[in-house]
Amino acid sequence: MEPLRVTVWNEYLHELEHDVVGTIYPDGIHGALAGAVAEHHPTAEVRTATLRAPDHGLSDELLATTDVLVWWGHKAHAEVSDAWAEKVHHAVLAGMGLVVLHSAHFSKPFKRVLGTHCSLTWREADEKERLWNIQPAHPIMAGIPDMFELAQEEMYGERFDVPEPDELLMLSWFQGGEVFRSLCTWRRGVGRVVYFRPGHETYPTYHHPHVRRIVANACEWARRRVTVDASKSPPVAAHEPVPNPTKEHV
Ligand code: ZN
Repeated sequence: MEPLRVTVWNEYLHELEHDVVGTIYPDGIHGALAGAVAEHHPTAEVRTATLRAPDHGLSDELLATTDVLVWWGHKAHAEVSDAWAEKVHHAVLAGMGLVVLHSAHFSKPFKRVLGTHCSLTWREADEKERLWNIQPAHPIMAGIPDMFELAQEEMYGERFDVPEPDELLMLSWFQGGEVFRSLCTWRRGVGRVVYFRPGHETYPTYHHPHVRRIVANACEWARRRVTVDASKSPPVAAHEPVPNPTKEHV
């Protein structure tokens, strides 16, 4: 198979505006995520794009040559233009993978792809999170133990307003008692979509080895297999002559 082509998209605002976040992620959250992909897929071609670059760092050529797009956003979902959200949606239907992380549950591309509000409950209280691996044979779970803990994370709780996942791979438990469907997959068109919950910007979550492995595994699993542009629906010639094609059936 050809080398995996990954584009990591990040809002890249918290890192520049808040010292605590910039200290945790000196190369940006996108830098940490790109490093996680490269660590586990040394031959991968990893590019990054950020919100306030022209066209949010995206281009038609970039999407066409991206096998999987990783998306992190939080405070500026509204700044993403509808036109680019639509292009990302179309790219997924045509075969590009989409890996959506943490607060990007409210991003325009994710909401368009899934078609629901994607709301959830949340609390910032430095809580412990336990992530339970409930599909250990799934490729995204390769190298991941039955359970691992993040010492501090933001809590996300049910109900998570998404369509029933095609696959539910991890469940989270939080110190406050809530639970959450933390790692889910869907298929849309011929594209694969992954949502993975952890990654609040004030914690070093994307430096955690299991989190990094899951992000990298998700990129490999969701990668483009084919490119299909079904929106064109071209006419197809008949293989055999069609008798009396305009005659009504009786
Ligand atoms: Zn958060």
